[in-house]
Amino acid sequence: MNIALIAHDAKKELMVQFCIAYCGVLSRHDLCATGTTGKLVSEATGLQIQKFLSGSQGGDQQISARIACNEVDLLLFFRDPLTAKPSEPNDMNMLRLCDMHNIPVATNIATAEVLIHGLERGDLDWRNILNPKG
Ligand code: PGA
Repeated sequence: MNIALIAHDAKKELMVQFCIAYCGVLSRHDLCATGTTGKLVSEATGLQIQKFLSGSQGGDQQISARIACNEVDLLLFFRDPLTAKPSEPNDMNMLRLCDMHNIPVATNIATAEVLIHGLERGDLDWRNILNPKG
């Protein structure tokens, strides 16, 4: 499965801790992330992560483009609900695209935990049928 990781600044440490905790599961999948999130997670875990541009440089839009093509199977997007960001419209569009393609998405750690356990249990295997790997 293709898993995309994005964390706003206030949530980056949480994302790192989450990825350390679930490193075993995540290592069995293809990971991509916005630049800084990917760098921090790969440094902390040793996981191989395809790093896009930093969010502020358009990395979130690179991930949105993959989502638009239904190439992402799971999005873990830890959002900071307290700080207004110029990227807000892009964030909303990314979530809209997930809804277009029924892509499972977590915007906080509580949902991410549920999805990662579901992933481990095979609950998301239908994505492989939808998107067989060439
Ligand atoms: P970053 O992007 O991982 O490059 O910081 C995420 C964000 O938009 O905050």
